[in-house]
Amino acid sequence: ILNVEDIHKSFGNNEVLRGVSFNVRKGDTKVFIGPSGTGKSTLLRCINQLTLPDKGRVWLHGEEVTNSGARINHFRQKIGMVFQNFFLFDHLTAVRNVEVALLKVKGMGKEEAREKALYELRQVGMEDWADHYPAELSGGQAQRVSIARALAMDPDVILFDEPTSALDPELTREVLEVMKKLAQQGMTMLVVTHEMGFACSVATEILFMENGLIAEQGSPEMLLSDPQYTRTRNFLGQLA
Ligand code: ATP
Ligand code: MG
Repeated sequence: ILNVEDIHKSFGNNEVLRGVSFNVRKGDTKVFIGPSGTGKSTLLRCINQLTLPDKGRVWLHGEEVTNSGARINHFRQKIGMVFQNFFLFDHLTAVRNVEVALLKVKGMGKEEAREKALYELRQVGMEDWADHYPAELSGGQAQRVSIARALAMDPDVILFDEPTSALDPELTREVLEVMKKLAQQGMTMLVVTHEMGFACSVATEILFMENGLIAEQGSPEMLLSDPQYTRTRNFLGQLA
């Protein structure tokens, strides 16, 4: 459903992405790993055009996302994004955070938006916290609200950029559980993470990025056991 073709991006003379291509099928969970600064975040941002690539194209369901002009808002709904630092509105309760885009972007009526927001909060186990403000939530709870907010747009794919790296292990686990459930329900997801337990149990494919390129890619079993994937294993060896 998503095709990424030869994405290049430089910041000044820093060539961050040097031609990245891959295809995503419905229900895939692709996990991106690799050293800091290799362009993983930039890649996700290029996919939904938060950052404009210098070269290369992105397609969703055969429609071009790059150079889509005013249609970009349509694609941003269909390509959800969850960030490391949640980006919730501090002055809005959890349910209002989920609701706001339904009212403003989707133009839903108040009651319908509330019902949908509560439904999505239930999906991430946060319905009991609907009336709390972000400051009253743990990091894991806040991250689950931000996942609910992405889900509320009925996306075709969700991009997760290190969704648990700001959380301690206990909270990390509750967020990974939610993501695992989404994967099992058939959500299509691209995930940048260092959580190799999650990667091994949930990923349909792991892509190892190095110096702005996909250096190696394959199933978790292949990358972790087949001796030809030395770069991935060297990287993972450094993590351990
Ligand atoms: P990390 O694992 O630390 O999150 P990453 O693989 O996500 O790293 P990116 O955040 O994509 O890496 O950054 C890749 C490079 O691009 C870095 O050298 C970074 O400084 C640079 N970069 C990213 N965004 C910008 C920007 N808006 N302006 C200038 N340079 C940028
Ligand atoms: Mg990053």
